Amino acid sequence: MSAALIDGRAAADALRRQLAIHADFFRASTGRPAGLATVLVGEDPASAVYVRSKIKATEEAGMHGVHRPLPADTSEAELLALVVELNRDPGIDGILVQLPLPAQIDAARVIDSIDPGKDVDGFHVVNSGRLAIGDPTALVPCTPLGCLHLLKEQLGSLSGAEAVVIGRSNIVGKPMAALLLGESCTVTIAHSRTRDLAEVCRRADILVAAVGRPEMVRGDWIKPGATVIDVGINRVPGAEPGKSRIVGDVAFAEAREMAGAITPVPGGVGPMTIAMLLRNTLVAAHRRAGLALPKGL
Ligand code: NDP
Repeated sequence: MSAALIDGRAAADALRRQLAIHADFFRASTGRPAGLATVLVGEDPASAVYVRSKIKATEEAGMHGVHRPLPADTSEAELLALVVELNRDPGIDGILVQLPLPAQIDAARVIDSIDPGKDVDGFHVVNSGRLAIGDPTALVPCTPLGCLHLLKEQLGSLSGAEAVVIGRSNIVGKPMAALLLGESCTVTIAHSRTRDLAEVCRRADILVAAVGRPEMVRGDWIKPGATVIDVGINRVPGAEPGKSRIVGDVAFAEAREMAGAITPVPGGVGPMTIAMLLRNTLVAAHRRAGLALPKGL
């Protein structure tokens, strides 16, 4: 059996079209576009690519993107001052400080300084806490939110499913587990100290791999018919010398023979992350403007 492919690009495109309609409605209701500020410190090439695609997507969705690049030697105090300025800016609904930050800056302190109502990455401890207690006003990290969207589109109700999340980072693994618990799954969080990881994975109806180890999850770790979400983005040497390619945390060809449905890498979870950033920005904008959230947002 070959698993169904979960097409994250198509899902993200559909979502972005929907968000553009909500963005138009927001602009018509308030007389201003929803605004997202992106802050990039330094010139890390991968971060610069991510930020560029976030700005482009923001503008394509009919929102206002403000980019605030800072030099690599920016001090923590200078970055905190910029966050304060953006917190106060009435035209800015979402603030995204691209991680990682240079060594002289404490990322936790910067995240803590962002107004939780503008924390569209969902990394602020107030939003993590809201998610942990099941408060629907939490702004939730974009990647796990994107994974949940794909799972619900594929499976409908997730209630009662055995879910295994490999990885316990604050960005992906923990919020993913909280979201699945919120959908009434029975959730196991696995990590580097988990004993017999393969056996733990074999009981999963839903398996989410967020590890950062190329093709670690093998085909025989997967329960027949399971839904597999591969969050991993790993660059490995390509077929030709000097070339590289991107693979996930799951050995795709093997897993596809066992799973019922699976996300490819690339083209699975990745595109959903940016779509969810736009979604979080619009949600934040509606809340800040005192508008009810439109259905489906
Ligand atoms: P982290 O490095 O923060 O966390 C990795 C997790 O994997 C840790 O909890 C670690 O366990 C666990 N782990 C590491 N090795 C093993 C192992 N051998 N067996 C079991 N568990 C293990 O990574 P992130 O959560 O930030 O990202 C995970 C992956 O997702 C990366 O490939 C990243 O590039 C990708 N990613 C993709 C995004 C997208 O948009 N598609 C967005 C964000 C991330 P422990 O805690 O015990 O160390």
